[in-house]
Amino acid sequence: MNSDSPKKPETVSVLVPTPSPVPYTYALKSGDIARPGTIVQVPLGPRQVSGVVVKDMPDTKPVDPKKLREVTQIFDCPPLAADMLRFVGWVADYTLSAPGMVARMVLRSPTAFEPEPPIKGILPTGSQPERLTDARRRVMAQVAENPEMAWTRSGLAHATGVTLSVVDGLAKLGVFEPIDLPPRPVVARPVSDYAQPDLTEEQRQVADGLAASVADADFSVTLLEGVTGSGKTETYFEAIAETLDRGKQVLVLLPEIALTQTFLERFHDRFGAEPAPWHSGLAPKARERIWRQVAEGNLRVIAGARSALFLPFENLGLIIVDEEHDAAYKQEDRVFYNARDMAVVRAHLGNFPIILASATPSVESRYNAEQGKYKYQRLERRYAGAALPILKCIDLRKSPPQRGGFLSPALLEAVQQTLDRGEQSLLFLNRRGYAPLTLCRACGHRFECPDCSAWLVEHRFRRQLVCHHCGHSEHVPDACPECGTFDHLVACGPGIERIAEEALASFPDARIMVLSSDMMGGVKRLRLEMEAIAKGEADIVIGTQLVAKGHNFPNMTLVGVVDADLGLSNGDPRAAERTFQLLHQVTGRAGRTGKPSVGLLQTFQPEHPVMQAIVSGDMDTFYEKQIADRELGKMPPFGRLASIIISANSRAEAQDHGRALRMAAPNAKDVLVLGPAEAPLALVRGRHRFRLLVHGAQRTDIQAYLREMISAAPSPRGSVRVQLDVDPQSFL
Ligand code: ADP
Ligand code: ZN
Repeated sequence: MNSDSPKKPETVSVLVPTPSPVPYTYALKSGDIARPGTIVQVPLGPRQVSGVVVKDMPDTKPVDPKKLREVTQIFDCPPLAADMLRFVGWVADYTLSAPGMVARMVLRSPTAFEPEPPIKGILPTGSQPERLTDARRRVMAQVAENPEMAWTRSGLAHATGVTLSVVDGLAKLGVFEPIDLPPRPVVARPVSDYAQPDLTEEQRQVADGLAASVADADFSVTLLEGVTGSGKTETYFEAIAETLDRGKQVLVLLPEIALTQTFLERFHDRFGAEPAPWHSGLAPKARERIWRQVAEGNLRVIAGARSALFLPFENLGLIIVDEEHDAAYKQEDRVFYNARDMAVVRAHLGNFPIILASATPSVESRYNAEQGKYKYQRLERRYAGAALPILKCIDLRKSPPQRGGFLSPALLEAVQQTLDRGEQSLLFLNRRGYAPLTLCRACGHRFECPDCSAWLVEHRFRRQLVCHHCGHSEHVPDACPECGTFDHLVACGPGIERIAEEALASFPDARIMVLSSDMMGGVKRLRLEMEAIAKGEADIVIGTQLVAKGHNFPNMTLVGVVDADLGLSNGDPRAAERTFQLLHQVTGRAGRTGKPSVGLLQTFQPEHPVMQAIVSGDMDTFYEKQIADRELGKMPPFGRLASIIISANSRAEAQDHGRALRMAAPNAKDVLVLGPAEAPLALVRGRHRFRLLVHGAQRTDIQAYLREMISAAPSPRGSVRVQLDVDPQSFL
């Protein structure tokens, strides 16, 4: 080494939000130190971005000192914990994403990196004012009760019923001195023994088992299985209590957090405070404060959507994934990941337990539990002997609806009987809008999205035709745009608005409520309507998947599934499992409080294994069959899958790049590459799509295989984009 060269500046490796597979190197201002996990601001091209300092990689090439740029700012923020940093790297490797893009999911709240400003307060100095008015006397009396206590100006004024100027006047006289109060926590601290539950014998055993896993303070996965209403939530609350007692943080993942008001309330009943929420609907200010307080360890329990997995927990000690089978845990945007699977990884890296809860677990989790890879806890009975609904199929071949209708006589009669008893019915159809297809009876023209390969869905209340993929919408025209014929457009097939119309025609005096995610007024209105239903303010509820999730409607005793076959025919390898889970969940809405209840499934194939499993309640046989099928087809968990999705502005470009990738596929005896095939959703937002499917054996290192394939292929050019999806859930 040449000792004459000028002293090299200290450098750090920083993950920045770019597609680069490696961190960038930056110089530190002299005297600065930044250990791994530190959050910094750095220049990136013309911009300033947030990044996180990571360990230097062994093969980091020294950067030309002339090109080296300096770290702009080191934030006054707790550094990310070591297990969180490892998690970022792990997710990047597993999903074949750039580590900087995964880090970006952690660093989403840039203004949270600066400490929250303290609250301005006042502290009594002990001195007394010379002249006492009535108002001043009240203030001094209050202060005398606890002379050490700091107040906010308005808090003290409010508590004593005086105006702010009285308090300020006393401060001016030296009765108070200014003091900085710590920022208020977003929610109060949960108290582990606030309200001890009275668990049944079965629940107690399960709760003890879960709490024991927490006490082990070691990595473990438990599958908590039990029918809706058996007390899964009640029992995993005990694991939360145990974790709180150990001074650690808890993360509860929920698939539909914006709507789980009941969960927040139940948590409050048990722990005396709500958990902090985390979802995309939060106001920016709330997000920042929650992020910061999670990082500081001041928030103990977070209940959130999948993105909560990337919060910077200071001392996480338990994760619960409720409804672990739910497809909403899969993110299909930028970084494609399954939050359920990554949560297991997070627990493993952090060396703490994780609980996966579901009435209808994913086949993968069920298999792992049966194999003893996961601990297995089952609740066999509904709480308080509440009977499960009696489930029956309505064979639409034998009992067809009236012409133009979608509700069979048998279902209509059941609704009538429910009305007569003064109880509630749910008509479930997982399709928003009025009709999924509109066509012209004169020329056969079908209304299709100009930018997607999808029919436009009629929304009659809004008088619009809408694309459910890109949001494109147009007015329903009076004449066919193709042939010009007036008044010949017909709606084909039902959506919930159409079912509402039919229900209204059949039951003109009933109070009917329609619920779906695209309803005006958003989450807030939905929540209010849910509450109204729970209070019995509707007789017939018509809704999509949204109503199926986690709501308790005490007076609901009939659930009618308008089209039980809907999910079975879309070419998805998980179609049967998905349909089973959905139907089970929806019918489970009935009879939550002990009244006898019924679930009716309208189907053209009552002999289908899914319908049989639902009706008989014999879940074990269903899972056995599913697992056997998966094993036969070497499908997960008996094999590995990854999708490569190629999109481009022109069909030819997408196809050509798909072919080039296929040519670059390495030879491996355990791996089969299928495609490129035009995607079922061939056009989305004006982009043409092709897919390749990589199918490997159980032991295949599918990431290594994909890496080799991508690096051997030409880089995508022009408008071509390539997206990798390891463990795909959707094949559209
Ligand atoms: P799951 O999560 O399995 O659907 P929950 O924990 O939500 O079941 O319980 C269903 C209902 O029964 C809830 O309203 C809950 O408050 C009630 N419940 C369950 N177990 C008990 C218990 N031991 N004591 C009182 N209420 C209970
Ligand atoms: Zn579209």
